[in-house]
Amino acid sequence: MATTLAACSLDNYLVLPDHTMDERITAARKELGRDVVILGHHYQRDEVIRFADFTGDSYKLSQEAAKATGKYIVFCGVHFMAESADVLSRPGQMTVLPDLNAGCSMADMAEITQVEDCWEQLVAMGLTTDSGEGITPITYMNSTAAIKAFCGERGGLVCTSSNAGSAFKWAFEKNQKLLFLPDQHLGRNTGYALGIPLNEMVVWDPYQLMGGVTPERLRAAKAILWKGHCSVHQRFLPEHVDKVRAKFPDIQVVVHPECRWEVCQKADGIGSTEKIIKSVKEAPAGSKFAIGTEIHLVNRLAKTTPDKMVITLDDSGCLCTTMYRISPQHLCWALENLVEGNVVNRIKVKENVKHWARVALDRMLEIQ
Ligand code: SF4
Repeated sequence: MATTLAACSLDNYLVLPDHTMDERITAARKELGRDVVILGHHYQRDEVIRFADFTGDSYKLSQEAAKATGKYIVFCGVHFMAESADVLSRPGQMTVLPDLNAGCSMADMAEITQVEDCWEQLVAMGLTTDSGEGITPITYMNSTAAIKAFCGERGGLVCTSSNAGSAFKWAFEKNQKLLFLPDQHLGRNTGYALGIPLNEMVVWDPYQLMGGVTPERLRAAKAILWKGHCSVHQRFLPEHVDKVRAKFPDIQVVVHPECRWEVCQKADGIGSTEKIIKSVKEAPAGSKFAIGTEIHLVNRLAKTTPDKMVITLDDSGCLCTTMYRISPQHLCWALENLVEGNVVNRIKVKENVKHWARVALDRMLEIQ
């Protein structure tokens, strides 16, 4: 192993070309052996995801994190995913995020203090008690550990795009109303698929008085949706569906449920990244797909299923810039530091937050 103490500074790595990293990452992994497990989200770039022991969407990766036995979990994804891995980890395990700047703009749209304010107002209106008798709070995986803990403590849970429908059903068994954080589109698409009319779903804007919703509408609503979105998926528009269908009349449009409701309504299929991959892989040769999700996943699907035509729904490309932050240089730096006994960029959720976040995550892992 050619690492030196001087090489442990990240700046020394960032100036190196990508192709020089492969051998070093492979050597560091070999040296770490079973002590390390590398998890890679589907939106990671090829130069990074090829080193992952497990790839998946946030749901699949949270299951892998819960099963991991290695001393170190290196998460090639974004901050909230690494936090969830830490919450689900065993005592003595450490979670590393190779670049701490890999955040998620959607997760940043809900701050815990804003959520607490919202809840206080709902309690003051008599719609729920502080402990959640009246409204079940659900948070999408793409949220901070503090928000997951908030939901866990009030009888709620976490969901991903794979199991949002089951989470809604679970929530409605407890209460007639739910608060969904932070992605309004996933919330609306899920509620609508379960038969909730659009006018029974309201959007809570944390920057407006009383969320910008009248008390009458809040009382009548079955679902209160937080005003957050994914900047990658919100870019897909209904006209993109029309355009691709005009060009390829037999194409199937499959989109992620973080896309706008209007886009999902026009699509042939809606699903999590795992479901999108499965639909394409299982389709007969010659099938054509236009996919509405992050571009790295679409390009990889096109490469790995050459017997089908796979294109992005919007050719202007939708890259998740925060996922892209994890570079081979960051991964190499994190692994070589672990070899030298330095745990860099450790993600450590506070113990009091961890407890309730774990409750909310465990509830998610128990439902289908
Ligand atoms: S694709 Fe969207 S939701 Fe996913 S990490 Fe990037 S910004 Fe966040």
